[in-house]
Amino acid sequence: MNSSIHSVGVDTIREEMSDLETAEERVGYLIELGDTLLPFEESEKSEGNRVLGCQSMVWLTSKRKGDEIVFSATSDAPMVKGLVAILVGAFSFKKPEQILAFPILQLFDELQLKSFLSPLRSNGLYSMVQKVLSIAELQLNRSESHRTATFIRPSPDKSVNDCRVDFPILGRILPNGKSLAYLDNAATSQRPNTVIQVMTEAYEKHFSNVHRSGHLLAAETTLAMEASRQSIADFINARSKDEIVFTAGTTASINLVARAWGDHFIKDGDEILLTEMEHHSNIVPWQQLAERKGAIIRWVPITGSFQLDLDAYVKMLGPRVKLVAMTAVSNVLGTINPVRQFVDLAHRAGAVVLVDAAQAIPHADVDVQAMDADFLVFSGHKMLGPTGIGILYGKRNLLNAMPAFLGGGNMIQAVTKEGFTQAEVPHRFEAGTAAIVEAIALKPAVDYLLSIGTEAILAKERLLCEKAFKGIESLPGVRMFGPKTDEKTGVLTFVIDGIDSQQVGHLLDEQGIAIRVGHHCAMPLHQRLGLGASCRASFYFYNTLEEVNRFVEAIQAIVKNRR
Ligand code: PMP
Repeated sequence: MNSSIHSVGVDTIREEMSDLETAEERVGYLIELGDTLLPFEESEKSEGNRVLGCQSMVWLTSKRKGDEIVFSATSDAPMVKGLVAILVGAFSFKKPEQILAFPILQLFDELQLKSFLSPLRSNGLYSMVQKVLSIAELQLNRSESHRTATFIRPSPDKSVNDCRVDFPILGRILPNGKSLAYLDNAATSQRPNTVIQVMTEAYEKHFSNVHRSGHLLAAETTLAMEASRQSIADFINARSKDEIVFTAGTTASINLVARAWGDHFIKDGDEILLTEMEHHSNIVPWQQLAERKGAIIRWVPITGSFQLDLDAYVKMLGPRVKLVAMTAVSNVLGTINPVRQFVDLAHRAGAVVLVDAAQAIPHADVDVQAMDADFLVFSGHKMLGPTGIGILYGKRNLLNAMPAFLGGGNMIQAVTKEGFTQAEVPHRFEAGTAAIVEAIALKPAVDYLLSIGTEAILAKERLLCEKAFKGIESLPGVRMFGPKTDEKTGVLTFVIDGIDSQQVGHLLDEQGIAIRVGHHCAMPLHQRLGLGASCRASFYFYNTLEEVNRFVEAIQAIVKNRR
């Protein structure tokens, strides 16, 4: 390597790194690369030039040369110095707009170094990129919020067809030698490497309790958890991250609202409207509330085309209705409901609306402001994130008006022998130690969904769902339930007359095909459809046409062999 040049070009680095085979060679190369950086004057190592990092120090200065910016940087850690050299090589001698457009994440990915460029790594590199971008932005007079949006929320850059390798479990060969075809995504999705890695890395390096101790680990962990809260707020377009409460999941979020809001605001004789397509999680907590308070539950029916009956809903919206609790997407039918229309009508009648977005968030753009939802709830595990973590979004004025539900640590301002004062929202509703790592890992899940793009996700699911539908629709005795493919998510619910649904599930399982059978936690809907149970295949963007073909062939064989 020519050590006289102060900024090794990206193409050279790419070429030289591609020849390296072992981890030692790569580390050696990075250390050598660090030596190519021009000496950084000791006097330049001021606090003002230091970028935030904990394990290592990184200093950065910049100069304007004509239209271009030249960066000079160094670190006190030899390997980080090598990574700094890559950043200097990538960003130096470029115009501000070229710097802002440079696909730095992609470059680090190509060089197999992406994990070093993470906000969870305390090496200063992530902060260095943020600083480089803000310097470029300053030159262009752009706003701070735009810069953050550029780096943290990349526009869709991953093809929906190349993503399967990111999900280790999808390559699993089952004990019977069959490869797994996972078609039970409405129950829970699988997780990409980035989510798994962030969880492992958090436990290995950055774990402590949050919002309590003042030491470095506590600060790092708290920052990571709050960064995740912010990314959820951005993802659903909340006005502030204070409107985002971490809970254990959709069920926990709904129960929280039923207790903290419902116990306070629902009175004897008030009406609560539910729809016939709700999941038990959005039924039972309201039945319990109704029992406690003497409220009345009424049901918005579904039409013969598996949609909510708007006319019936309008007629039901009288002055006694205080709450409408509705799902944005049915977990059985896949129906995508016109939430905004329902919300507007409810608001006109003076009712508050809770939207169950558990089945919407993995596929569709969920925008709480566009929906004007008062409360919106979902789970991490259906959107590529961990289990045991979920979200309650609430409009700030509603959350502020609600007393805490669970009491304990973290949710108080002060406690005396006489009583306590409660913390501000959202911490008021986060008593005890949270599922910290799970909360942190929601951010890479959101980043992954954004990198694919919801439009591509829904389009791919629908393509697969339509193929499956076409493959089995004309088979004798097969009955399907749900609207047309372009009016729903990638869910295909069916029964085969004369064969028990459990048996269908069992026969598919023998072929390595995982679907869900039963009532899918929606017994009132099954009663409405005249069914005891049904089979549900639910597709996600990482499924393949080959898996759909296997599913169709297996169903054809089951129908053929039916006695
Ligand atoms: N609502 C809907 C529409 C769902 O599909 C589910 C999960 N099947 C839930 C609520 C409950 O979610 P969780 O079990 O994660 O609390």
